[in-house]
Order: sequence, then C-alpha cells, then structure tokens
Amino acid sequence: MNDFLNHFVKCIPSSPTLAMSEQANHLAKQGIEVINLSVGEPDLPVPEWVRTAAMDAIIRGEHEYTPIAGLPELRQAVVDKLVRENHLLGYQPSQVIVGNGAKQVLFNSCMVLFQSGNEVIVPAPYWVSYPTMVEMSGATPVIVGCPEHDGFKLSAERLRANIGPKTRGIFLNSPSNPTGAVYTPTEWRDLADVLLEHPDLFIICDDIYEHLVYDPYHFTTLLEIEPTLKDRTLVVNGLSKSFSMTGWRVGYGVGPAAIISGMTRLQSHSTSGASCIAQWAAIEALNNPQSQSFLQQRKEIFEKRRDILVQGLQDIMPVQSPAGAFYVYANVLDMMKQKGVQSDLDLGQAMLKHAHVSGVPGTEFGLPGYMRFSYATSEDRLHKATERLQNWATQTPSS
Ligand code: PMP
Ligand code: GLU
Repeated sequence: MNDFLNHFVKCIPSSPTLAMSEQANHLAKQGIEVINLSVGEPDLPVPEWVRTAAMDAIIRGEHEYTPIAGLPELRQAVVDKLVRENHLLGYQPSQVIVGNGAKQVLFNSCMVLFQSGNEVIVPAPYWVSYPTMVEMSGATPVIVGCPEHDGFKLSAERLRANIGPKTRGIFLNSPSNPTGAVYTPTEWRDLADVLLEHPDLFIICDDIYEHLVYDPYHFTTLLEIEPTLKDRTLVVNGLSKSFSMTGWRVGYGVGPAAIISGMTRLQSHSTSGASCIAQWAAIEALNNPQSQSFLQQRKEIFEKRRDILVQGLQDIMPVQSPAGAFYVYANVLDMMKQKGVQSDLDLGQAMLKHAHVSGVPGTEFGLPGYMRFSYATSEDRLHKATERLQNWATQTPSS
C-alpha cells in the first residue's frame, strides 16, 4: 500500500506535539492517570460572550460558505485590532486572510512564498511544524540554533551569518513556542537592521502567543519597530491560545495584498473559508470590549501557573522562568545521565512510563537536551506533576 503514497508523505512525521499528547491520552484511556504536559492547549473555557455569539449565529441561521478569505466583518475586526493593540496602521481588509487556525495560514504562506531552490531560515528551538511546512513547499529549511545562553533567541550576528544567495524567507515567533522567549524592542531593532540589508527576504512573524507576556516584559511585534518591512512581512495570529478556541479553528494572516490573494486562491482549492459559526464568534472575541479584561485575567492565571511549574522543576533540573507563552523549556542533560538514557526522546518515554508525566523532548524542536512542559493546565495538576517528577528523579535509573 505504501507504494501509493506521494514520496514526500512517505517520510513526513506526524506533528510530534500532537503525537506525544495522543500517546498520553491513550495511556489515560487504559486507566493510567497521566498528567499531560505535552500539548499547548488551554484547559480553560471560551469566554461566555464568544460562545453566545456562536449560538446566536446558529440561531440566526448562518450556514453558508463565507468568502474564502473570511467574513468582511472579521477581516475588518482584525484591521481594527492591529490598530488598537499593535499600532499597525494602514492595513485594508483585503490584506487579511482568515484560515482554519494559524496553522493553515502558515502552511498556505509557505506554499505561496517558497519553492524548490529556496532556503528559509528557521531559528531553533522552533515550533515543530515550521520546518515541515517549508519542506512541503519544496524549499529547504535552514535551522539556526539559538542556544540557551542567548535566551534561545536569534541574534543579529547569527541571522547575518546564515543569509545566503538562496535565502528567501524567515520565521520569527515571539513569544516563542517552545521556550517562551520574548524579543525586546532592542532585539527586534537589531534583527530589523539585518533584514533591511536583504530586500529579497520575506518575513513570517508568528504572534499567536501575543497576549501571554508576563511582567516586566511587554509584547511588541517586529513591524511596530520597523514599519517599512510591511511590504514583505506576513503577521500571523489567531484565537486558539488567547481565547481557548483551539478546536474552533480560526487564525489569520495580514500582509501584502498580492500574497494574501495568492493564499486565498490556494485556499479556494483546499478548504474554502473557515467555519462561518467560528468566524462570527471570532468577530465578537475581537470586538467586544470585555475581551480586554478577560485577556488580562487569563494572563494572570498563566503567570501563576508558570511560577508553580518553574518552582517545582527547579529542584530537579535547570530551568529558566520564561517571559511568555505557556511553555517551560527545561534542561534535562543531567537527568539523562542520571537515568542512563542516550537522548531526550528516551527520557520522554521513560518519564511517561515511570512518572506518568508527559512532555515533549527538545529534539522535536531542533535543540536537543531539553524537555518542553506546557503549563496550560490546572495548578493542581502542575503541583502533582512536579511531585511525581521529584519522586522519579530520586529513584534508580531503571525505574
Ligand atoms: N504557531 C505556533 C507557534 C503555535 O504554537 C501554534 C499552536 N498550535 C500555532 C501556530 C497554530 O495554532 P492554531 O492552528 O491552533 O491557530
Ligand atoms: N501548538 C500546540 C503545541 O505546540 C498544539 C499542537 C500542534 O498544533 O502541533 O503543543
């Protein structure tokens, strides 16, 4: 049967974050009480006014295909949001595309922008799907390691050293999945200066964790610092993380009209517009003034969870307190030695088997020797997870 498969699909791995989470859920179904810290998915509910907007849309009888690039009201709401929250002025609704989650928007952007012979810079640790998406377009990802002593962030020097004649694009993601690293305005400035030297390079700026940046840090997006990059930047965002709408599948991209038009034509042959019900809900999420205090409260909840997880892990493994998102990227090199395992992949499996806690090994994010733990779960479960890990850490290597 394998002979029927397209040669690329034969080698393509499943998203490791989702695969690890499924493995944990599988064990849970067998009656083993696993604490799943592998997937980045908020456990908290969608705000009430957003759920009501979805129900209202159903009751009104909304049922039709929406325009491929999204409902005009939603595209306008995105433009308004960019002005209100990001000081990004001058966008038109025609420069916005709505997709089935930010994932589809990112995927479409790769298909539209890149092709065989191109190189695309992906700073590591990276979100698991970036390199695969680049490969699916036919281009080659150029993985640029960003070590812990650089705060897991891309420096201007590393960026400059990795741009070559074939470089066509770059992924930037702040706050970062998997490290929670947040670029400061000064760091953006330094990167922007290098990017300005290379006018053929297109920038994909993934802002999906925008609303999860903790004191004393602040969110800024690259274009706020260097607006002249607007003609070759796609800003990607969505409602999965900020409004807990992971399963509702609404994300969006904002960029040059020609790129948005290409992405829209591509989408017209795959999924068409995103679910109309979810789009009406997204309009309410973006436009309702109550959402501002909701996002602030959510941030405070996640900040508390971060502190619980970091504090609990500190005695077991070296870990930095992340500035944003809902992940901790902990150094497990000593733990690997202590448990007598060769890789973080083996450690992840042993941790799941013996401690019944799941995380995602750093190898999957392109920087091995680490384990990503998501704190998008309750305080109680985080306390329990760290207790289990503390107990496991003191046990003999075989257990
Ligand atoms: N970008 C990053 C960095 C992510 O962590 C995720 C999480 N799934 C996505 C994009 C995609 O989000 P979604 O498709 O749920 O909008
Ligand atoms: N972005 C989330 C994560 O990294 C969801 C899983 C996925 O889409 O890969 O866990």
